[in-house]
Amino acid sequence: MENPPRQFFHPRQQRTQGFDIKLLRKTSKKTRSFPIDDEEFNARKKARLEDDNCEAAIQDFKLKGLNKSRSASVDIDPSRLCPFCDRLFPEETTSQLDDLLARALQRSYRDPRPKNSLGRRANLEVFAALCERHTFEKELVPKAVANGWPTSIDWASVKARVMALHGPLGDILHDQGRRIAYGGATTFHETFVTGPRMECVFWQEVVAELEMYGSRRVSGIGGQYASFSRTQPGYYGGLGAIVMSETLYMMFPAKTVSSHWVEPFSLQEFIGRILVPEAAMRLIMEDMGLDGSDAGNKGKAIEVMRASTSYGSYMFADDSSHDLSS
Ligand SMILES: [Zn+2]
Repeated sequence: MENPPRQFFHPRQQRTQGFDIKLLRKTSKKTRSFPIDDEEFNARKKARLEDDNCEAAIQDFKLKGLNKSRSASVDIDPSRLCPFCDRLFPEETTSQLDDLLARALQRSYRDPRPKNSLGRRANLEVFAALCERHTFEKELVPKAVANGWPTSIDWASVKARVMALHGPLGDILHDQGRRIAYGGATTFHETFVTGPRMECVFWQEVVAELEMYGSRRVSGIGGQYASFSRTQPGYYGGLGAIVMSETLYMMFPAKTVSSHWVEPFSLQEFIGRILVPEAAMRLIMEDMGLDGSDAGNKGKAIEVMRASTSYGSYMFADDSSHDLSS
């Protein structure tokens, strides 16, 4: 059993975190009963739980397909409102949002209000992730759909599509690019100025950074941190980054890769900084029906990739809640 929360806030009081409790009690009649102590909390909870149970709450919200059959009307159907913050849910909800709602319902109790007869109450930590998620789905998902970005991804096919890129990705790995001077030394073997490596936009960015800052700031943890948002695979999200890097490790096992090929990085860094974004850019070109051999199309795909990074990081977060096998 979980301990009852020590302080208990109505959602509309979230902004008052850090307030002076005595002042609040004195000045606000409406909210004078909050925060309440543990004993009072438990008494109220017990009373309300008697006519409440999670199954009934789930019925109220008709989870899985929540609002799909409902159209907006003048009198807002309370099942279209978030039971905690009273804001409108999106017209269609993802399974992640449904799961967050189901979990929050289990840890809350009924608190009907004039504006929301299905209102519920709980500690902030119970519904914070739910409210963040429904706000995201209401505001950013329609924008993503309008842009043609996916709201679901077949991860098995992503893996197969990355494997089909073995040729061009292998060319980038094996071609060591032109000689780069940094830290007072020329490190790379002399090869082609316009080979597959130098045509790779993500390598070009690394070269510019190496020449400006030297290898210490570009490789290692600091470099990974600085380049993080630029090397994310756009709407494929954190989960896409994982699926792609695991596939790339399988395609280019460490024992087959010379450390000279990936200098000044480790193979792991090279995959994360060069091959993952390159693979994502190529998948996005395929998604958009663009010809991959056209340099201008690469630019368009990179634009989409960077514009959709925050959407992807939310929609397809690496939180293990997705089925990677299907
Ligand atoms: Zn909410």
